[in-house]
Amino acid sequence: MNDPLIELRDRLRVFTQEREWDRYHTPKNLAMALIVEAAELAEHFQWLTPEESQSPQDGKRARIRDELADVLIYLVELADALDVDLAAAAHDKIAKNALKYPVEKARGNAKKYDEL
Ligand SMILES: [Mg+2]
Repeated sequence: MNDPLIELRDRLRVFTQEREWDRYHTPKNLAMALIVEAAELAEHFQWLTPEESQSPQDGKRARIRDELADVLIYLVELADALDVDLAAAAHDKIAKNALKYPVEKARGNAKKYDEL
């Protein structure tokens, strides 16, 4: 087995169990933590111009990297708490999006699927 998401899930299970944090890791709490971390990520881009957001400075880039990790960690933990295969769910959603956004209609524009 060499599935990075499964390896992350298993490592996080050990990390959480060693600290007896399972009791706090309800789906509700994990969903809230995920949103908090997503907001921390977004904060690094707040008020930047589109151009500035393309190439964050060295220090900011490291902090963005940490927040991306926090988001992924809580996402993996939430999916684990709900027994969701995250990779399979993402592949299924991409397939659904491909049907909603056919290439010939969606190429080169950002319209919502019901406006294509
Ligand atoms: Mg954070």
